[in-house]
Amino acid sequence: MAAAPVPHAEFRLLGTRCTACASVFFPREDDWCRNPGCPGGELVETPLSRRGRVWSYTDGRYRPPAPYVSDPDAPWKPYTLVAVELAAEAMVVLGQAAPGVRTADLAVGMEVEVVPGVLHEDAEHVWTTWHWRPVADGSGEAGA
Ligand SMILES: [Zn+2]
Repeated sequence: MAAAPVPHAEFRLLGTRCTACASVFFPREDDWCRNPGCPGGELVETPLSRRGRVWSYTDGRYRPPAPYVSDPDAPWKPYTLVAVELAAEAMVVLGQAAPGVRTADLAVGMEVEVVPGVLHEDAEHVWTTWHWRPVADGSGEAGA
């Protein structure tokens, strides 16, 4: 079942938010609030902020082991990993940088945005993921 691609401007990661203490969980938590001080609330789906700031970053220069999906016959291409701090959610979300973004292009505190990405594809399927990429005007202050 193929879903229509989501326009970049509308692309969001979906987490859940506790109605009692407002804690946000990503990956989503649907069973119970993990805040030990919370009396327990309903967990409702919530879109995360599109933009955040680089908290840390590194690159992967070797092929990770299974269950990572990778063709052992294909040449390994290094990739960049970014940990992004989302201020409104008070959390850090890890993800790959968009294709072509190298560690030399990043700096702690730089503003980045989430965009749709492709993890892997074959003749029948496309496995999608999210990527972080620097905001074109990222030298200024964070937007809403
Ligand atoms: Zn809670």
